[in-house]
Amino acid sequence: MPELPEVEIARSLIADQALHRRIVDVDDSDSYVTRPHPPGELRSALLGRSLTAAHRRGKTMWLETSGTGDAGAPGGAELGIHLGMSGRIVITGPDGTVAEAGEPRRYDARPPRTAWNRFTLTFADGGSLVLFDPRRLGRVRLNPDIGALGPDARQVTPAAFRALIMKGTIAVKARLLDQSKIAGVGNLLADEILWQARVSPLARVDTLSSAQVNRLYRALKSVLESAIAKGGAHTGDIVAARHPGGTCPRDGAPMAHGTVGGRSTWWCSREQALRPEQRNSSA
Ligand SMILES: [Zn+2]
Repeated sequence: MPELPEVEIARSLIADQALHRRIVDVDDSDSYVTRPHPPGELRSALLGRSLTAAHRRGKTMWLETSGTGDAGAPGGAELGIHLGMSGRIVITGPDGTVAEAGEPRRYDARPPRTAWNRFTLTFADGGSLVLFDPRRLGRVRLNPDIGALGPDARQVTPAAFRALIMKGTIAVKARLLDQSKIAGVGNLLADEILWQARVSPLARVDTLSSAQVNRLYRALKSVLESAIAKGGAHTGDIVAARHPGGTCPRDGAPMAHGTVGGRSTWWCSREQALRPEQRNSSA
């Protein structure tokens, strides 16, 4: 599933290759992906405009659009794109070259089908921007509301992180996954961050020591930057150990497995052992 790194790479690709190209056609016929907009609404909002900037908070992107070229016409709506569980952005240049970013292609069990092109902008230069999404859980909409999202995980300050992470008694992994607190961390990144910081995923947030919170913050930053540089959350150090019989790449201890925050979770049985006082009966 695309997490912050994949979405940031997709945002960066759009910023590099899709801006300032006039939109001459819009295929918004998949009314599930474009809900609540009826077919044609996105098309009429975007025709004749171009994308002018690409932004991201957590896993949500939104693109600014230009005026239609008529003198004095104001800029258009913002186009929100969420990659969902399996979405990729595919951009075709004026010369036909194709670049893509989002969910890594290696996860596809089946060869790509054009029916999985859920939303398409066609540019005046002959190229296009496509949301390609086999599982159809991505979303395209105008003026997306990002008010329910917490600060972006790449931008959050140490003080805000401490305040957001420690409130309540929930297990720390569940807190890291809560997009309303800190936006952008998904299942693979959360396990990687906890492993880097040597903190049990089950530890109650109100029992975290100052040193543990500091380690979590540093791990958040380093794990995000590494994943963005290497191409996605699947490049983490413990991804290869996420299976029965897997061992910790740091000390060779067996990896432990359980469900935390509703998600499949792997951690080092030795370095991330839960201290008795950090136990959460509801985790
Ligand atoms: Zn270990």
